[in-house]
Amino acid sequence: MPLTTRCRVSLKSWLSTTQKPLPGPIAVSNAVAGAPRSRAAATFAARLTIENLTRTYGEATALNGVSLDVSPGEIVCLLGPSGCGKTTLLRVVSGIERPSTGRVLINDREVAGPTRYVPPEDRSIGLMFQDFALFPHLNILDNVAFGLRSLAPDVRERSARAILDRVGLADFAEAYPSTLSGGQQQRVALARAIVPRPAVMLMDEPFSGLDIQLRDTMQEETLALLRETRATSLIVTHNPEEAMRLGDRIVVLKSGRIVQQGSTETLYRNPASLFVARLFSEINEIPVRVQDGRVVTAAGTFAAPGLSDGTAAVLCLRERAIEITPAGANGCDKLNGRVTDIKFLGDMTRIDLAVEGFDQILKARVGGADGLRKGSEVKVSIQPGAGLVFPFES
Ligand code: ATP
Repeated sequence: MPLTTRCRVSLKSWLSTTQKPLPGPIAVSNAVAGAPRSRAAATFAARLTIENLTRTYGEATALNGVSLDVSPGEIVCLLGPSGCGKTTLLRVVSGIERPSTGRVLINDREVAGPTRYVPPEDRSIGLMFQDFALFPHLNILDNVAFGLRSLAPDVRERSARAILDRVGLADFAEAYPSTLSGGQQQRVALARAIVPRPAVMLMDEPFSGLDIQLRDTMQEETLALLRETRATSLIVTHNPEEAMRLGDRIVVLKSGRIVQQGSTETLYRNPASLFVARLFSEINEIPVRVQDGRVVTAAGTFAAPGLSDGTAAVLCLRERAIEITPAGANGCDKLNGRVTDIKFLGDMTRIDLAVEGFDQILKARVGGADGLRKGSEVKVSIQPGAGLVFPFES
């Protein structure tokens, strides 16, 4: 299903209702050429609570018992493969969709539940989608001011110009979206979503339409603006690196369920499953059998907690945890290996290795590989504690 099309239609109908900006101070532009940009006004950040949310479409279950508590001002990234329910969760939180069962609360006030439904425009929600969904017939100033229609015209214009100044587009107020670059359009979409000072910002793949270099810049700028406004934020992405860069917390979804959540470090160091381990680092997957709560390999013994004897499991060895030393190096923990392929990838080198005791080629990523080439004889070891054992998953 073309999700962006679904989103665009819904966003427009949402925008065409009267949004209600929060009362409070509005940042005033100090834009003159070369002057520092003004700061965006802070929102009244809200706690977002999602309780046992389920959303079905006929036989299909898009969300299956999702519970999540997001603190005021926290930035949470929803990460998972296509079809896992990320967008559906955003749509239910925004009010574009109703839950089948479960509840959504903003600052402990139920906005969706069995007996209550608050429309999107009354939830103090900001929405931003991957295609930016700017109105082509409105200039940039009017695009940004669109969500402020309930304010007096002069206040509205002042607010819109202030946020345009903040995102570096003060000089483009009278331009039309089609004349702007992708990055500039992204800034306009962000400005439009944030200017009513929503308590909760919902962003669906906001950077996926940008090229890689622009994406990095826009991620940093967006993060700065979200921190400045203190908006509680849910950001959907299928890119683990993006989630790691943006999120105070990452929530991993699979088939409509949360399979793990935590800080970047927790998910990287202690993935709860093979699925999560695969998301956060490049790994070698080695089929093994569990015996006495552990697996024994040529590279050492690895704990397999909770797995019974005979279980078909997978030993994950991070590519970065494989150490390579010259063939003459001593050490009883080092295995003999031979380079079967080598690729220079800029700040690292990817090396394929045939290693004694392993039936499959092991892949390693190392910072420097001076003097190594295809066919080089080497010694190979695994960093202590680098192996994780999980039940087999297809
Ligand atoms: P993507 O990363 O591709 O955008 P997603 O994780 O956002 O995927 P959702 O769009 O939330 O996934 O969809 C979750 C599941 O629900 C999918 O199987 C999808 O086909 C289904 N689904 C979503 N919306 C509808 C709908 N309106 N009617 C029927 N099925 C739907």
